[in-house]
Amino acid sequence: MPELPEVETLRRDLAATLVGRSFAGIDVRLAKQVVTPTGLNIVDLIGRRIEGVRRRAKYLIFDLSDGLALVMHLRLAGQLVHRDAENVTLAEGGHPVPAYGAPLPHKSTHVIFTFDNGSVLYLTDIRQFGRVWILPEVGVQPLLDQAKLGPEPLDESFTLDMLKERLARRQRMPLKPVLLDQHVVSGIGNIYADEIVFESKLTPATLIGDLTEADLSRVHAAIRHILSMAVREGVAEILNGKASPTRGFPRVHGRTGQPCPVCGTLIKKVQFAGRGTYTCPSCQPWQPPVEK
Ligand SMILES: [Zn+2]
Repeated sequence: MPELPEVETLRRDLAATLVGRSFAGIDVRLAKQVVTPTGLNIVDLIGRRIEGVRRRAKYLIFDLSDGLALVMHLRLAGQLVHRDAENVTLAEGGHPVPAYGAPLPHKSTHVIFTFDNGSVLYLTDIRQFGRVWILPEVGVQPLLDQAKLGPEPLDESFTLDMLKERLARRQRMPLKPVLLDQHVVSGIGNIYADEIVFESKLTPATLIGDLTEADLSRVHAAIRHILSMAVREGVAEILNGKASPTRGFPRVHGRTGQPCPVCGTLIKKVQFAGRGTYTCPSCQPWQPPVEK
């Protein structure tokens, strides 16, 4: 699932290739993926210029000319690829399946946008949970408000006190599912949750109420450090559940049977709270509950 760093990296790349372009066409091959909550017609998009590309949590927001906006959420497996008129890739991101170099449109390419310079943006989504909203600019904030998103972890405003406030009503919940809760902090998914728990020297099952001041402070620092590193140095490469063998990041997620980068103990994978969870048995001693 694309997480905050993937979406932020994609936002930057698409802003570089799409701002200033106008829509020349839209081909919707799977009707449910495009939503027009205020009853706009999808062809209202044609001729509108992209004036900016913003992000809030894992939503991409394209501000268009004349008071219109296009909002996208890639959900579990959405992928965007922007190619020029000669089919050369300009920007790509999201879910890595199908492989980025694959011929497009793929059988799971459900929405195709064309632009005034002949370039094409493909939304491919093997799981079909991704969504595109076309709506008036004034409708964007209400749409985001409905999602009750937690704070942006990379904003200056995301302080330790803000994190504590978000955790206050979750004292009896374990750390990892709380990190995954988009109402607590926006944009953390399974990969970075494992990395944050590891860097915090805690376990996925540590109860929020058992965290000391020092623990909380490490969790807060780890959230910012892990996510900003991922945005800065390139997002985690995970294919078929395995981390890239040639890169040091992520450090534990996707690394079953590989040595812990801190102590050399072999990383273990277990199911915890319904998610594949990677920890170092020495750095993070815990007894995972038995789950099927
Ligand atoms: Zn270790």
